[in-house]
Amino acid sequence: MAKFTATFARRILLNMAKLPDVVFVLGAPGAGKGTQSKRIVEDFGYTHLSVGDLLRAERSRDGSAVGRLIDTCIREGQIVPIKITINLIKKAMTDLMELDNNKSSFLIDGFPRNEDNVKGWTTHMEGKANVKFVLFFDCDLEICKKRCLDRSQSSGRVDDNEESLNKRIQTYLKSTKPIIDQYEKEGKVRRVDASGSVGEIFEKLKTFF
Ligand code: UDP
Ligand code: MG
Repeated sequence: MAKFTATFARRILLNMAKLPDVVFVLGAPGAGKGTQSKRIVEDFGYTHLSVGDLLRAERSRDGSAVGRLIDTCIREGQIVPIKITINLIKKAMTDLMELDNNKSSFLIDGFPRNEDNVKGWTTHMEGKANVKFVLFFDCDLEICKKRCLDRSQSSGRVDDNEESLNKRIQTYLKSTKPIIDQYEKEGKVRRVDASGSVGEIFEKLKTFF
């Protein structure tokens, strides 16, 4: 009886546990998603999940069955199939929450990037996480491009070159911007003008947290 009660109580507690909060961070390549996410982590206690980083890690993982596919998508500026991406996000969130119960606010950076991504999120995560809003870094595309080319010296990224970058920008305009516009219509977007300096942009976005 005691054992039953303890198990039962734990189950109730688990069910009552607050859902993790999520903020999606979107914007063109080079808009500052990663840079500002790190500052938000420092000041507001969020956990940063860069989906690009999750995919790059999976690409380099020994024995990955999807490493080559991910590599091609990244070089070509295409969006990786949602089945792969959502599993990586889910696993990262679960692992982090298991390690530390207090981790309950996530910045998901660079996702969702197209309609399939949105659908995949809904299918797998609705009722499991609470999307608070979409933080949109609205940045002039020429500035974005210049930032990526400038960082290409140090980033070591296979896609920070002119050719990949043009493809990434096309994918952004064709697939991701419409998603942001849709979220905007739903009143979920917090937009920040992201053409300025790192400090200036952070001062502006602070008010959303
Ligand atoms: N990517 C993807 N799905 C995602 C996030 C990233 O397919 O949800 C791929 C895509 O090919 C993208 C690349 O990973 O061009 C790099 O993404 P990241 O967010 O790191 O780049 P950024 O947009 O910040 O330049
Ligand atoms: Mg990034």
